[in-house]
Amino acid sequence: SSEESEPVKTICPYCGVGCGIQVDQGEDPGDVQFRPWGEAPVNEGRICIKGGAATQVVNHEDRLTDPLIKEDGEFREATWEEAYGRVVDELERIREENGPDAMGFFGSSKTMNEENYLLQKLARRYGTNNVDNCTRMCHASTVYALRKSLGAGAMTNSMADLEEAADVFWIQGANPGEQHPIANSQYFRQAVLEGATVIQVDPHANKTTRSFQIDETDRHMHLQLEPGTDIPLLNIVLKTVLENDWVDEEFIKSRTEGFDHLLETLEDFDKEAAAEECGVPLEDIELAAEKYAKANNAAIFTGMGMSQHTCGVDNVQNEINLALATGNLGRPGTGVNPLRGQNNVQGTSDVGAMPNVLPGYQPVDDDEARESVEEVWGFEVPDEPGLTNVEISHEAGDSIKGLYIMGENPVMSEPDANRVAERLQDLEFTVVQDIFMTETAEYADVILPATTWAERGGTVTNTDRRVQRMRGVDKVHENTKHDLEIVSEVGRRLFGEDGGFDFEDPEDVFEELREVCPIYYGMTYDALGEEGLHWPCYEEGDEGDPFLYEDSFDTESGRGHIEGVRHQPPKETPDEEYPLILTTARLEEHYNTGTMSRRSPRLHNQHPENFVDIHPNDAERYGVEDGDYVRISSRRGEIEVKAQVTEDIKEGVIWTTPHFAAASGNVLTNDVLDERAKIPEYKAAAAEIEVSVDA
Ligand code: SF4
Repeated sequence: SSEESEPVKTICPYCGVGCGIQVDQGEDPGDVQFRPWGEAPVNEGRICIKGGAATQVVNHEDRLTDPLIKEDGEFREATWEEAYGRVVDELERIREENGPDAMGFFGSSKTMNEENYLLQKLARRYGTNNVDNCTRMCHASTVYALRKSLGAGAMTNSMADLEEAADVFWIQGANPGEQHPIANSQYFRQAVLEGATVIQVDPHANKTTRSFQIDETDRHMHLQLEPGTDIPLLNIVLKTVLENDWVDEEFIKSRTEGFDHLLETLEDFDKEAAAEECGVPLEDIELAAEKYAKANNAAIFTGMGMSQHTCGVDNVQNEINLALATGNLGRPGTGVNPLRGQNNVQGTSDVGAMPNVLPGYQPVDDDEARESVEEVWGFEVPDEPGLTNVEISHEAGDSIKGLYIMGENPVMSEPDANRVAERLQDLEFTVVQDIFMTETAEYADVILPATTWAERGGTVTNTDRRVQRMRGVDKVHENTKHDLEIVSEVGRRLFGEDGGFDFEDPEDVFEELREVCPIYYGMTYDALGEEGLHWPCYEEGDEGDPFLYEDSFDTESGRGHIEGVRHQPPKETPDEEYPLILTTARLEEHYNTGTMSRRSPRLHNQHPENFVDIHPNDAERYGVEDGDYVRISSRRGEIEVKAQVTEDIKEGVIWTTPHFAAASGNVLTNDVLDERAKIPEYKAAAAEIEVSVDA
């Protein structure tokens, strides 16, 4: 019974807040139960609906329990020996016939640091930098702008110091009320109760909007802008700050560079015309500017509403401009803070599962950095950045012949999903490591059954750079394997016993990771303990930094980089054929492609199917009644969903989600990319809507 074994302390497998939970295992290995963890450092026992339901998928009847090999279009069970043999033979064949860059490797933000570290090492030992993870889809542009202009691609501050010290929260294109429920309820809402003001900039009214309407005052604001007009809105804010001399001159002089460029960019900027473009009254934006600029400490939160645009890098740069111009960086309660979506999306990038950087964000094309890593690894790393995941999918069947996917589901997560599925069929070989038969696994040649989050140990890094340990209960299915074990074995078979893939356990891998990842160097499993540590942690004994840039920025000059930016409309705008703007976002009760959350009865019951939000005026125009089934189409495909008529969305805009396989919003989204960060434009496409005839 459960009294016999102690529950294990681990981390919630869903969002990037990093809540600690406990897992209890009864006598039967499949009897896995959730228990709160009262002293957990981030959440002190509190939990949202997803975290509380997380154990429901561990022993789900859909679990993959044995390796599968596809023969004549059908999967059959295979032994591990046979499956490994197939994977290694195909990887060797592809390299021989086409060179190593004909393979692509996808790490996963749902798997741990050690596992992603080993996967990117596998790709590089194989001879390619074509390795990426789904951070590309959520915050690639944020990471790009933050690294270039401040130094590190992560939250500048931590949830705890923000709660303590921020007077104003500027939340643009993020929805913590829905996506980071415990950060919202435990930290931000607490600050609001103590008097902090919230300014939300979002085309959609949502749980964040409602969660802050908790007091009688009218100090909070929601600026409901047209999708894709974030730059003009922030330019109005910046120009208002300049006109009123609300800048921090001392900070600009001593800590920044590029301020003149901002002045030049805004010189002829027409605030009135821009406000019209944004669809927000000018005086509201000016008032919001005043609240932010006059706060003692103001913090910016940025989310995928900012990053998932073809101008994603510039969107985030403009937030950085605002923070730097007003001196809101380098102190508790300030900064530019991306709220990260998955429990290890920060860590997956930290450990180098990206085509352009090695562990610790060391550029692959920097000779010195590469050589220092090569010294530990004992083999040469290719010196040219590889392809990103969307680029790999675009090349599938052309220059890319094979794909190694650990725990990702690109058929649903990438934009223009129908094309992704078509292209996967053009590959010569695909291997998928996962816990369920995902929409992507259906296209695989070999499927390797992995264990779930609850059954294994390792570390994950949450949204405020806190590295924490996960601990596992026993395996539920004998013939499944941990991701780490699988990647190690593939590595051993490809490169021999001395090829750099012989590890005893996750801690053994972490010890090597430290050697090549300076921001993690000071961490050991012992030092992480139950509290975890924030990076950067350069030396053993370092406490890690809850907020960054107190004295200088991690840029070459040590200064924060300001750079004025101009409006760039989304690549696809409404026209006669597709007259509406379609935007997409996620729900609290579901998680990305829904592989786990749709299988969790508690979460499924909350939201069993996809839907679309449509404004009452548009509903009338298209003859749509609340609850009708409607067909939404874009240039790329169509889906049928239930209509929800609501003033939460602006007229001319419709809003849906990517979570549901039967009708995923990503069938409609546009796969154009931000040129620098290669993130797709999920947040704006042109669409039309009609009432379904067959409904
Ligand atoms: Fe899990 Fe995030 Fe909910 Fe915390 S807030 S319980 S980490 S999903």
